[in-house]
Amino acid sequence: MMNKAIYFDMDGTLANLYGVNNWLTKLQNEDATPYTDATPLVKLNVLARLLNRLQANGYTIGIVSWLAKNGTTEYNTKVINAKMEWLTVHLASVKFDEIIITEYGTPKEMVVNFPNGILFDDEIANRENWIGTAYDVDNIIEVLKGLN
Ligand SMILES: [Mg+2]
Repeated sequence: MMNKAIYFDMDGTLANLYGVNNWLTKLQNEDATPYTDATPLVKLNVLARLLNRLQANGYTIGIVSWLAKNGTTEYNTKVINAKMEWLTVHLASVKFDEIIITEYGTPKEMVVNFPNGILFDDEIANRENWIGTAYDVDNIIEVLKGLN
């Protein structure tokens, strides 16, 4: 049975981390600014309106996102803060029910409350391992518009 829950990855799904100049070098140097500098990959005003409507219709709305690979504890804290800031800046009107920002490589279906729900994620392995229905990132708005 499908849960009424919708989860989003961040990097490469909502936030264009990989479009930030020298993002990888910066992450390797424990610079968290690429996470706040990342531009949105979706029309945020449209996304926010849809998410608020779906939440009012009983959907749980969540984020499930990884930290940088091989980050120190100190850097992990900075990355969590940067990701929370990105969500606050770009999706201020969305009150997420669940925000999971976890170690790089963590199986996402193991750490969320409703792995039978929907996942949007740019990584194929995450989509393949997901229990519910997983979508790539090309038609996020269209998929959400089709839910009720
Ligand atoms: Mg991703």
